[in-house]
Amino acid sequence: MHSDKTQYYLDLEDQYGAHNYHPLPVVLNRGEGVYLWDVDNKRYFDFLSGYSAVNQGHCHPTIIRALIAQAQKLTLTSRAFHSELLSEFTQYITAYFGYDKVLPMNTGVEAVETAIKLCRRWGYDVKGIPANQAKILVCGNNFHGRTSTVISFSTDPSSYDRFGPFMPGFEVVPYNDLEALSKALQDKNVAGFLVEPIQGEAGVVIPDDGYLKTAKQYCADARVLFIADEIQTGLCRTGKMLACDHEGVRADILIIGKALSGGVLPASAVLADNEVMMNIKPGEHGSTYGGNPLACKVAMAALDVLKDEEMADNAEAMGQLFRDELAAMQSPHIQLIRGRGLLNAIVIKHANPEAAWDLCLAMKDRGLLAKPTHGDKIRLSPPLCINREEVLEAVQIIADSLHILD
Ligand code: PLP
Repeated sequence: MHSDKTQYYLDLEDQYGAHNYHPLPVVLNRGEGVYLWDVDNKRYFDFLSGYSAVNQGHCHPTIIRALIAQAQKLTLTSRAFHSELLSEFTQYITAYFGYDKVLPMNTGVEAVETAIKLCRRWGYDVKGIPANQAKILVCGNNFHGRTSTVISFSTDPSSYDRFGPFMPGFEVVPYNDLEALSKALQDKNVAGFLVEPIQGEAGVVIPDDGYLKTAKQYCADARVLFIADEIQTGLCRTGKMLACDHEGVRADILIIGKALSGGVLPASAVLADNEVMMNIKPGEHGSTYGGNPLACKVAMAALDVLKDEEMADNAEAMGQLFRDELAAMQSPHIQLIRGRGLLNAIVIKHANPEAAWDLCLAMKDRGLLAKPTHGDKIRLSPPLCINREEVLEAVQIIADSLHILD
């Protein structure tokens, strides 16, 4: 089924790598724009985009140029010293998103951890919550990463099972349920509400219109910080710079990651105003690589590309085209098509519980890579530089592949 070359690499990883993922059996070694190539030089549409880290397209020349130039000059100083690039980056990104301050980290989950610490500290120092009593509300079916604190408030057993004991101080409320949120906010010890504007890992679950706006208002009324995890939804993925922009909501703490570097290196950031950010003092939080000059340079280039190439508008237009074309197929195997911009998912309807996986294998054979999430859902999220012809070609591949489920 696989070439000998592919099998060789699959076997190597199987033998020497931890089995903490279940990847599609394809071995990649090159990427450009919306395309990936495997070790046999077969070309694929990338409909995962590194879980939305590669919004700008693979190896975007502007971002790679910035990477190479900076890598030859200075890569890491640590935060023991200042760097020219970190200074420039802090000014650039706070102006870009309209916040007083930024705290740079590396991975998404580190930025979530940072937001949790900022929120708790604000809860004690500003809101006046008694010591160690601060509570953060989170949503059912959330996904915020994999550290032991963050899995402590996951509702997915595959994230938390047999990894306890867990971090206290979190309360789960159902997603998209304003009544439950309002009730939970009555507790005076609540410091924050952490929410994904669209739940990506859960299968691109979009809340009702007005949910975010009202939730933000409820939080403001209760003097609780509204914390938006835009790691997957942000940076033009959903057709606006941030998914919260669809409802005109400005988060008190904004968390971004993934496409902040265009898929080039780990870079994440937490943005907030002084009232929140200035409660953390020197030595109380940090990371060796956080805010390194290389990441700062790459992130500024990656953010430039999003605006210069009008990727939000393209995501909006191509996403609409994609969903319209999928709907026009009228496949009996697609139960639901949902999405915003180019963050889309289909829910597969089939007696075989492996149908979504089988469909992904069939699409791979025909030149399109996507991955099921939670069994019957397939996320379809190409790089935001995709054009009309490419969307139509990809839809044809999906249509051809669906016939294996007949
Ligand atoms: N938050 C959200 C909404 C995510 O989608 C992810 C990753 O998929 C994370 C946090 C964690 O990011 P990372 O894998 O970079 O730690």
